Amino acid sequence: MEKLVITVAPTGSVPKKKDNPHVPVTPKEVVECALRCEDEGASILHIHARDAQENPSDDPSFFWEVVETLRGRSNLILQVSTGGRAGTSLDSRTKRLQVRPEMASLTTGSVNFPNSVYINEPQLIEALAKEMLELGIKPEMEIFDVSMIANALSLVDKGLAKPPLHFNFVMGLRGAIPATIENLVHLKNSIPAGSTWTVSGIASAQLRMGVHAILMGGHVRVGLEDNILMRKGELATNEALVRRIAFLSRELGREVATPDEARRILGLKEG
Ligand code: ZN
Repeated sequence: MEKLVITVAPTGSVPKKKDNPHVPVTPKEVVECALRCEDEGASILHIHARDAQENPSDDPSFFWEVVETLRGRSNLILQVSTGGRAGTSLDSRTKRLQVRPEMASLTTGSVNFPNSVYINEPQLIEALAKEMLELGIKPEMEIFDVSMIANALSLVDKGLAKPPLHFNFVMGLRGAIPATIENLVHLKNSIPAGSTWTVSGIASAQLRMGVHAILMGGHVRVGLEDNILMRKGELATNEALVRRIAFLSRELGREVATPDEARRILGLKEG
């Protein structure tokens, strides 16, 4: 089995410091947190921007500052979120790609969030995919439901994405696919051979879906974006979540990938 690629998603759009004081919300906090997570075994950093009030932001300067500050200090693979909570227009969501991260997230369908609708029209998905292809950015297909796998594969048919694809199964968010092992097996069996996949379990599903993925040959995303607790009643830190999943993987006989090993596994240019 390949070594485990650990993604850390330290910030996201939702949790604030009042929910967990360890959520990094300024570029400086994101960078310091990223370096601690790299030390614990993370190889991909999934980045969201916030404004001074901790609300989601689409300000490209936030991404520039994180990317420029990390360059030379870190070997992490940078993955910019193109998620729509910070701004829904194509322009808002593509501006940040100009920082030329190695990866970016691409949600290939629409889904209900607990209190809103996350809209990704076919035209917007195709335009984002095209932009990533032209800039040499590898998309991570964000899969909230089975139909989104078919949508991702249709991008390949249209020449807008190049296989092998990399998928992230987001599981356990109310409104999207429930976090069960049966659903994970079905998702894994629904992607083409040669693809890579990771799982993002939401809230208490983060740990158990991560362990399933370790055993099934997938990869794992952890972090406060998806889950703010270490266990019931105990707030997590990003680095503790990375440390725990790395420890469990090694205990289960699977080594943890360095960023360069992750580049090879995901078919990125090795740095
Ligand atoms: Zn995200």
